[in-house]
Amino acid sequence: MPGSLVETDARHVLHPWADLSALGKPESLIISQASGVEVTDSNGRSYLDAIGGMWCVTVGYGRTELIEAMTAQARMMPYFTPFGDVTNQPATELAALLAELAPGDLNRVQFTTGGSTAVESAVRLAQFYFLSQGRPGKYHVLSRVNAYHGSTFLAASLSGKAADRTHFHYESGWVHHLDSPGYDPDVSTVPAEQRLAELIGGMESAIAEVGAENIACFIAEPILASGGVLVPPPGYHRATLELCRRHDILYISDEVVTGFGRLGHFFASEVKFGVVPDLLITAKGLTSGYQPLGAVLISDRIAETLASAADPANPVFSNGFTYSGHPVACATAIANIEVMRREDICGHVREVGPYFIERLRELRSSPVVAAVRGDHLMACVECRVDGEAGPTPRNQALARRVDSYCEQAGLLVRPYENLCIMSPPLVVSRQEIDRIVGILAGALDRAA
Ligand code: PLP
Repeated sequence: MPGSLVETDARHVLHPWADLSALGKPESLIISQASGVEVTDSNGRSYLDAIGGMWCVTVGYGRTELIEAMTAQARMMPYFTPFGDVTNQPATELAALLAELAPGDLNRVQFTTGGSTAVESAVRLAQFYFLSQGRPGKYHVLSRVNAYHGSTFLAASLSGKAADRTHFHYESGWVHHLDSPGYDPDVSTVPAEQRLAELIGGMESAIAEVGAENIACFIAEPILASGGVLVPPPGYHRATLELCRRHDILYISDEVVTGFGRLGHFFASEVKFGVVPDLLITAKGLTSGYQPLGAVLISDRIAETLASAADPANPVFSNGFTYSGHPVACATAIANIEVMRREDICGHVREVGPYFIERLRELRSSPVVAAVRGDHLMACVECRVDGEAGPTPRNQALARRVDSYCEQAGLLVRPYENLCIMSPPLVVSRQEIDRIVGILAGALDRAA
């Protein structure tokens, strides 16, 4: 019974990122069915999903190709250990496919269980890389304010959203947060070149202060996703890579959100931003959200150095998980890549992505919209009351009202602070984009 399901949830479940002031209140939205770009709740109400599950559902819901691949693999061989020299066929085949899709010489893959575990694995690998070359002091990590890299302890330590950091004793001695690199030409008071120079100057100072000999890696989302869809100024990615190269700091690109088509390419690093990282992280869209899976793509250069520098007395890189490269998840990812290639999903995103942003930008005429920013199918609308700037309590309350009016009108957007964040499934059509923008415009009017 739907009513009792909500009550049972209220009584027994602690949701990820739960609002504890609402704990025990029977208010949850229970999603029971999904098809195409729509989801349906336990009361039978349907919503257009402008969140893409959680940035992850790319080829849409109910794809038989993915469902059949999952069931066939579960029937044939649902699980066996991936540790040491044991593996399974889908994991091996998927690794080869990823190497084919990835930029540069990112030809080796370590599978994980999701984004956070891939972030952890990449950073541990970077630290291990220097340790095994007799440089144990080179283990510090550079991240950024407003970054989001996940919710395990290390991934959360790397994340830089102020609100998420208040109640925990995260690693701080060796994790350093550079300035948030978001640049919005519509609202910025300084030209892009000046902002770029400030950001790169800040990074140079941090490297000088910490000492390049102590820094293992720099980790960066090409566009900061959960931190508020923050797009760095042009030239930022290349300039940060050059700094890393100059100081022998490994560059880790966290493409958990930007990868797998959301910006119109399987991976955005090289094609859009001119960067071939040393390590690249993917998850979410890798299986279109149908199964939990993550992966670290490793350059040949790093892998070969690791192999040649291995300590003969203990040559093991002790990192991995029971469900690393789970066969059912890997089979799903292979089917997902097949669908994406066959239907040229990336091409579709390149076609509808600019339309999505252009339509959303019309909302800037609303008195309660401070900014609209994004790129292809990742975007956000920033709300404000009476010209008040930033995530003030009133602005956050406004965004929550907008979100709730959208939900009442059959649209799911993701509220974060004073933002409504959107990342629809990549198969979204122009008509569905028009519906998203129409409902959002109505909700903004109502909330104004
Ligand atoms: N990295 C980025 C950029 C993310 O957006 C996320 C999740 O939203 C993660 C890592 C963590 O992924 P997961 O939630 O699968 O652990």
